[in-house]
Amino acid sequence: RKTRVAVVFGGRSSEHEVSCQSAKSVLPHLDADRFEVVPVGITPQGQWALGTDPNALEAGAGNLPTLRNRTDIVAIEPGQALQDVDVVFPLLHGAWGEDGTIQGLLELGGLPYVGPGVFASAAAMDKIFAKKILQAEGLPVGKFVALDRSATTLTLDEREHLGLPVFVKPSRAGSSVGISKVSDWADLDAAIFEARQHDPKVIIEGAVPNVREIELAVLEFPDGRVEASLPAELRAVADDVEWYDFNAKYVDDTYEADIPAKLDDDITAQLREMAVTAFKALDCQGLSRVDFFLTEQNELIINELNTMPGFTPISMYPKAWEATGMDFGTLLTTLIETAIARGSGLR
Ligand code: ATP
Ligand code: MG
Ligand code: MG
Ligand code: MG
Repeated sequence: RKTRVAVVFGGRSSEHEVSCQSAKSVLPHLDADRFEVVPVGITPQGQWALGTDPNALEAGAGNLPTLRNRTDIVAIEPGQALQDVDVVFPLLHGAWGEDGTIQGLLELGGLPYVGPGVFASAAAMDKIFAKKILQAEGLPVGKFVALDRSATTLTLDEREHLGLPVFVKPSRAGSSVGISKVSDWADLDAAIFEARQHDPKVIIEGAVPNVREIELAVLEFPDGRVEASLPAELRAVADDVEWYDFNAKYVDDTYEADIPAKLDDDITAQLREMAVTAFKALDCQGLSRVDFFLTEQNELIINELNTMPGFTPISMYPKAWEATGMDFGTLLTTLIETAIARGSGLR
């Protein structure tokens, strides 16, 4: 019989809609000759529902599909939703999905799944811990301050250390949700308050001036080989656009992608090597998208790793692999075969 693949999407995080959009683009590209797809939706309230078609959803935030406000959902237990499934594709972004929580559930159930395990997912999702681990491995990260859970502002020393502008971020989120760029200390406390709407853990980073944004897609093959794609660059095309926020990602056309990025061969080679090193430093498996900053001085900084990056039609992860010579369908098959090859034991 065909391999039964549960594609889990939606979820409780602020990236619910992005995940629904990812599922919408993944489902039609899964090889129908080999895989039988079991779509499993999770509502923003955390109810699991079987058989919800991501193609038949209403438009929500950013005009992306959503399971919000659905009254026809028949909630079932996760174990029931995943019954008779061979492998799970947890296509969830952000908290309660990309952060090790669903990975833990799948470990307990003995089900193989696409992507990194519990530790790597949790470590990469938390920007503070991810930076600490990357630093310990000797990898370059930017200046940052981990704000104490009880602190509502930065000390004078911390302000001096970071300089202006700064980026204020929820430590565990994605799609730029809850992030502010602060160019005046008078706006700092409001930005911290805003980030806290998404996570009590807040990280504040020194802004890299005139940064070039480069992303690489890292993929593990069933034989354990780990490879990085060619680099992709995100570039603002409008003058008044300062950074890659939620609107730039999913709503406006203010950013364009160069895939592959126009970079010297030696920087490309360095990026590909560093992306694989970062992947291994966080003990990732399956896949991750590694986001870099290239400074005006041609220095590389690792901004972050996304262990379940977007899979929408405009997402960098599949596009970077396409530019490297692997089409979307083959990429999905590889991800699933790697999950199955790894199995359900301690890994
Ligand atoms: P993703 O959707 O990739 O998961 P995220 O929510 O985890 O995004 P980041 O990638 O950390 O957020 O930051 C979002 C964007 O903010 C970056 O792509 C970049 O445009 C800008 N940015 C973040 N940190 C910095 C920085 N230190 N210096 C300059 N720009 C920054
Ligand atoms: Mg991220
Ligand atoms: Mg992300
Ligand atoms: Mg990012």
